[in-house]
Amino acid sequence: MPVKTLKDIDVKNKTVLVRVDFNVPMENGEITDDNRIVQALPTLQKLLDDGAKVVCFSHLGRIKTREDKKGKSLDVVARRLGEALNREVVFVPHTRGQALEQAVEALRPGEIMMFENTRFEDADGRKESKNDPELGKYWASLGDIFVNDAFGTAHRAHASNVGIAAHIEESAAGYLLEREIKHIGDAIEHPKRPFVAILGGIKVSDKIGVIRSFLQRADKVLIGGGMSYTFMKAQGFEIGESVVEDDKIDLARTLLAEGEGKLHLPEDFKLTKEFSNDAPIRIAARDDFRRDEMGLDIGPKTLARYGELLSDAKTVVWNGPVGVFEMPNFAQGTEGICKALAALEDATTVIGGGDSAAAAISLGYADQFTHISTGGGASLEFMEGKPLPGIGCLDTL
Ligand code: ADP
Ligand code: MG
Repeated sequence: MPVKTLKDIDVKNKTVLVRVDFNVPMENGEITDDNRIVQALPTLQKLLDDGAKVVCFSHLGRIKTREDKKGKSLDVVARRLGEALNREVVFVPHTRGQALEQAVEALRPGEIMMFENTRFEDADGRKESKNDPELGKYWASLGDIFVNDAFGTAHRAHASNVGIAAHIEESAAGYLLEREIKHIGDAIEHPKRPFVAILGGIKVSDKIGVIRSFLQRADKVLIGGGMSYTFMKAQGFEIGESVVEDDKIDLARTLLAEGEGKLHLPEDFKLTKEFSNDAPIRIAARDDFRRDEMGLDIGPKTLARYGELLSDAKTVVWNGPVGVFEMPNFAQGTEGICKALAALEDATTVIGGGDSAAAAISLGYADQFTHISTGGGASLEFMEGKPLPGIGCLDTL
């Protein structure tokens, strides 16, 4: 059932609690990439324009002890948000208590405030991350409506999403969450066919659920990256020093049998003797690995064949780089896939996964996809077809 979105709620003069994902990368107390703040602006701006009193909050990093709180305050983020919105953002350096309640009380329509890192509540007993019912109820008591726009934590049932939603009158998805639901959800549930999935990354074990999900849902599944070698070893090939999970070889064999006719593996590779961008490269077929070589990217024949397999696709979902794209000499496979997808007319192309998104963006293809997911773990679980608690907790239409 579709969840409520911003167009379905009336926020005028209401206090709206907005869970955003401001888990930005920081170095020495400075924000190094404010993309997550920028991405949250449309939802916040819309609520402010519509006359809401906006209380927004987020987690930042992981907190287990009181010491972990050092350097994890959201005050810097609140300041940056104020600059981005070009208005004052009142920051309350607490997650509960009188100062917070008074600041919420003092808000007028069209004003915005932020409170402290929700995971500060994890320092003494993991109240946020374990969805302590008293905490969710308390936060819910501060507002009238809950808007969730934090897709990155939607696969977790925390007090700041599920806990609040359980105790508040009305709840809805923000624009960011709505886009994730539309693009990943639709690709998974109602793909236009042919539907092709591309799966890479290091480990089979990280991706078992996704591989199985796509073997069921997709018409073709193209494998690349480090996980290829576990499959190849299962087929009896020499893979030299390539990354492999020996305890997943039986599983790989099962998946190969389940995916017969659908599952495609690379047929050639870029091999080196060292995990280094400067190491000499040899391109070789899959039955031609030497013992001291490792595969760090797919080869040109594979790329050409994958290009053909993709050429009639109407839906493509991609998770996991097909090579060690962080080193320019092994980014060609991943870039080739980006190009093949960019060339598709009339196809929905979706990228999920932290490193895959980073690869597409750093290679300059950010605008060429229908959707690049903002979630890592959350997009993986969504692609597996698992229900996400941060979405399931919201009101449906
Ligand atoms: P995502 O974050 O998109 O889900 P993963 O975390 O599963 O992706 O995998 C990304 C990593 O996989 C990258 O750091 C990349 O260098 C690595 N990788 C890809 N191909 C290989 C390979 N052949 N050998 C070792 N590592 C690889
Ligand atoms: Mg990753």
